[in-house]
Amino acid sequence: MASGRSDATTDADALLAQLRAFEGRPSGPPAEARDEVNQAMIRHWVDAMGDDNPVYVDEESARANGFPGVVAPPTMLQAWIMRGYLSQPDGAWKAQRDASGEASAQEQLFDALNAAGFTSVVATNCDQEYVRPIVLGDRLTVTSVIDSVSPEKHTGLGDGHFVTTRLEFTDQHGERVATMRFRILRFRPQSSRPKDVALRPRPAITHDIAFFFEGARNGTLLIQRCAQCGVLRHPPRPACASCGSFEWDTVTASGRGTVYSFVVVHHPQVAAFDYPLPIAVVELEEGTRLVGDLIGIDPADVEIGMPVVAEMVAVDDELTIPMFRPAVPVGAGRVGAVTGDA
Ligand SMILES: [Zn+2]
Repeated sequence: MASGRSDATTDADALLAQLRAFEGRPSGPPAEARDEVNQAMIRHWVDAMGDDNPVYVDEESARANGFPGVVAPPTMLQAWIMRGYLSQPDGAWKAQRDASGEASAQEQLFDALNAAGFTSVVATNCDQEYVRPIVLGDRLTVTSVIDSVSPEKHTGLGDGHFVTTRLEFTDQHGERVATMRFRILRFRPQSSRPKDVALRPRPAITHDIAFFFEGARNGTLLIQRCAQCGVLRHPPRPACASCGSFEWDTVTASGRGTVYSFVVVHHPQVAAFDYPLPIAVVELEEGTRLVGDLIGIDPADVEIGMPVVAEMVAVDDELTIPMFRPAVPVGAGRVGAVTGDA
């Protein structure tokens, strides 16, 4: 429809006004926790997280630390109101429809964004504010409101609007116990951009991590080592978690490792990457882990525990990063990729 710049600007202004009209509207009906805050769920959580703070499980310790009794880990906030996957076979969207059967404000907002071409989504921020400790027996309710919609912004993923949803958590007395602001970016996918001009996103190269990318450019995979106690660490950071020393040097990794965990990314698609994109957490034989693309393998063939070797890949003129390819098993007829040709 737009025939010139001023029309396009007018269109953007009109869309923003339309989007901003949703600010302050509930994004769906309130959701009440299915269960009171209880010790069993807390135990499962702290076991899974490896959190051994006794105030989450021991009454005496909790009181000794000034709490009225056992408290729930603050990070469990969402766990209390989360719906079971199978308890809503029609999906979360339908569950958010109000009694009249009309689409929720959030659905209407997302419909408006889709219609304007902002069809991709990525979560960007989550801020939580805790008003008081949540204790055993509390019964939480959450209400969610469309907090704000930003003007159109230019981002590395594409042009889009940030949408912030504010979730207010209240207790059985209607008192607020916490607030969470959850921000997503709804953006226009850039897949139509020619691939040969799209560069990978630049890593933030700080004083702490510069050695890693320099090493990669020189064909070596470097691991940071505490100069005081010798503990290896990755990702790089200023101080040793074991002894607190700020002194460090590096060791050259062999490049051999195993797939500790992996994902295969399908969406959102960003120019400069090929999809489906297998990405692994690789456990190096030195003991540290790092994240890298898997290359030279069909994503369907990736397995946890499979041996891999690092390869420094120059993805463009400025950036070389370590990726991992399957190691050729010993006795498979040629020497492993790490040592070159047979
Ligand atoms: Zn140390």
